[in-house]
Parts: sequence; structure tokens; C-alpha cells
Amino acid sequence: MNEISKPMSNLAAIDAAHHLHPFSDMGKLNAAGTRIIERAEGVFIYDSTGKKYLDAFAGLWCVNIGYGRREIADVVQRQMNELPYYNAFFGTTTPPATLLAQKIASRAGPKMNHVFFTNSGSEATDTWFRMARVYWKALGHPTKTRVIARRNGYHGSTVAGASLGGMKWMHEQGDLPIEGVAHIGQPYWYAEGGDLSPAEFGLKAARELEAKIDELGEENVAAFVAEPIQGAGGVIVPPETYWPEIARICKARNILLVSDEVICGFGRLGSWFGYQHFGVEPDLAPVAKGLSSGYLPIGGVIVSDRVAEVMLSELGDFNHGFTYSGHPVCAAAALENLRIIEEEGLVERVRDDIGPYFSEGWKSLTDHELVGEAVNIGLMGGLQITADKATRRRFAKPDDIGTAVRNHCLANGLVMRATGDRMLASPALTISRSEVDEIIETLRKGLDHLRDTREHFQ
Ligand SMILES: *Cc1c(COP(=O)(O)O)cnc(C)c1O
Repeated sequence: MNEISKPMSNLAAIDAAHHLHPFSDMGKLNAAGTRIIERAEGVFIYDSTGKKYLDAFAGLWCVNIGYGRREIADVVQRQMNELPYYNAFFGTTTPPATLLAQKIASRAGPKMNHVFFTNSGSEATDTWFRMARVYWKALGHPTKTRVIARRNGYHGSTVAGASLGGMKWMHEQGDLPIEGVAHIGQPYWYAEGGDLSPAEFGLKAARELEAKIDELGEENVAAFVAEPIQGAGGVIVPPETYWPEIARICKARNILLVSDEVICGFGRLGSWFGYQHFGVEPDLAPVAKGLSSGYLPIGGVIVSDRVAEVMLSELGDFNHGFTYSGHPVCAAAALENLRIIEEEGLVERVRDDIGPYFSEGWKSLTDHELVGEAVNIGLMGGLQITADKATRRRFAKPDDIGTAVRNHCLANGLVMRATGDRMLASPALTISRSEVDEIIETLRKGLDHLRDTREHFQ
């Protein structure tokens, strides 16, 4: 039987007939058949054939507290019965939205005291993008509108999100980026560092920002955005010299620094926020994903006092918002999620216990002949596959390489993600030591499989 005539479950057939998936080639997907995930518990998901997988990716970087937490379901049910919806547009709020803003502010640092709610990370991107521009306009600098982002960054899939992101293959669809967005290079030492040391390269990559500001004119630049660690781009951990230099440049040139915390926020790096790990103070910080551990959709922008003061005193109406901004049920789920993270000490656990344990296992893979580097901070790991360790040479078709390893892992009950020739891990913050061992062992087998079949991939 060929792929297309393979019998599909009824649901897969319905899916093929009606459901368009995000970031997917629907022709290929329908031919192969969709995998149907039916239930989950802890770090494990189960598909409709009953096969069990360790989800080393926490859904999509988001299920920080793991699956199957009844506490969230109970809180959501109560909130649904009490008040399923009300808006925050016309001088009203709901208790969960207000309390969630307070809770986020309590962890975000002394100068980050306000939150604007959205339903996703992409909407958070669109929100800060407008905020940065209205901030400068309100201060009497209407030409400060341009935003600088990075190649291979990811900030969502709306028009502003895809424009600010540095994915060429996204720009090609929809005539992007929009005007007013510029990109600089990324701090990806392994691929682009050449003969420089990581520290030297980190400075060089950061100083591209300075050069870009000069090129555009400081009076025309509103903000710079970056993820503390690029997630979708391949878990690119920047050299230590990078972030302090970025912060220095933003300050010296008087442009807003936006730290995209959609992945790094809420404990993944062993800190509440990624900017805290790197010791920088952003002006705006979009969040989503781990805010509710994905149990319900919610995002937001954490706003520094510097920006909030202008919004509170100079701006007048901010003509922006979403029907579901601060949705009470989603906010209640997020509040309960943050309560669990606090009560179980998950941020500290990642910093002091399971993060270091994961790191040891992850880095042990560097003895493999195909592994160029294995880097992580907390429970966010990136592993670079190389055709030649000494020269950092890469296989000719990086996408095929990562896919081969990922598929081998999947067949052996492990969900990982691949970006090109990098393998990515981002498990729930609740993962146990033996489950970490399972990730490392299965990934090693995937790498062995690639080694044993490498003649197909030169
Ligand atoms: C996922 C992601 C987004 C977009 O969030 P959505 O909820 O998918 O819209 C933005 N920024 C980063 C860094 C992300 O990883």
C-alpha cells in the first residue's frame, strides 16, 4: 500500500478533510496521516493507538507544570460557573485579571509593575510594538518608530510577529517584513563565529545593533527586541558577553529594550524571567506559554515603570486591546499555575536541582562523534549535530539531519523538536531524574542511528 491508500482512523480522515494545521505542509501531512493525541499525564502523552511518549518539549515549550494537574481544572470549573467572561474595556475588571497582574509584577523585578493582557505571544508582540511607538510619540519623538530585531529570531506569526521574527521562509509568505522593521545577526557562535572566541563573537554580534542604530539614525529607532535565548531558532544560547553589551547599547542610544519572555519566562531557565538570568532590565517583556502552562490561552506584556509612567500620564487612551484581554477563566488558570510553580518551588528546582542534573546528562552527549555542542540553561537545551567536530562542518542538508534524529526518537517514544541540525529539549519543570535519563538515552540512540546511516546524508 502506498501512503495515501493506507487506512486511516475515522478521526484522521476527518482531520484530513477539514483541518488546516499551523506551520504544516497539508498535502504531505494528510498523506502521512495525523497523529492524534488523546490524553496526557505528567510528562507523558498518549496517542490514539495507545502509544506512550515522553514529551521532552512540554507541548510547545509551554506545559511547565506538566500535564494532568487537577488543581487547574478545578479552578477553571469554579471560575466558569461564577463568571465565564467579562471584559476590561469600559472601566471594569474581573478579580482573576487584576490579581494575575499583581502576581506577575511581584516576580518581574522592582521596575516592572504593570501588565497588559493578550491571548497569545503573537498578540503580545503586536501589543508592545504599538506601545513602543506610542511611548516615543507621547514623549514628543514621533520619528522614533523603527524596531530592530534579529535574523532567526521568533516572535510569533501575526503580521508584526512574523515581520519581527527573522525567519526568511516566513517573510516569503505574505510579503513581509512590514516597513519599519530591520534585522541584525544572531549570536550563534557555533555556526557563525568563525575563528573568534565565543566571548569575542558575542561582542561582535551585539555591536551589530550599534551599527544598525547608527545606520538608521538614533532619532528613528524605537526599540530592539530579542529572546534571551532564541527558542524556535534552535536554542541558541548567546555567549556571556552578549546581553550586557546589548543592554549597554540600548541605554547609551536611548532605545527601548524588549525581552521576549514567551519561552524563557516562568521558570524555564531557573529564574522567573530570562532577563533576570542574564542580569538585564528590559523596558517591555512579552509573555505567554508558561504563564498558564498552556492549559488555557493567555499572554501579556509586562511594562516597566519607565513606559507605564508615560502611558499613565501622557498618552490618553491607548487604542488597543482584545475582546479577551484578561479573560477571567484564562487568568484564573494562570494564577493557579503560578501558585503551583511557587508552592512547589519549581523555579528553584530548575536552578538548583533538576536543571543541573539535566545539564550533566545533556552535555554528556558531547562525547558522541556527531555532536558539536550541547548547551543548556535550566531546562532549555540545544544540541548541535555536526559532520566534523574539528572544523564545525555541517551536513549538506541540515533539515534532513534533525528530522532523521527526531523521527528515530519519536519511534522510540520520545518527543523532541529539531530546528535544522539542532535538537531541542524543553521538558516540564516537574520532570524527574529518571525521566531526564530516558531523554538522554533515547536521544543517544537517535544519534547512533544517524551515525550508522550517515552515508545517506553527506
Ligand atoms: C511561541 C512564541 C511566540 C508566539 O506566541 P504564540 O502564543 O504562538 O502566538 C512569541 N515569541 C516567542 C519567543 C515564542 O517562542
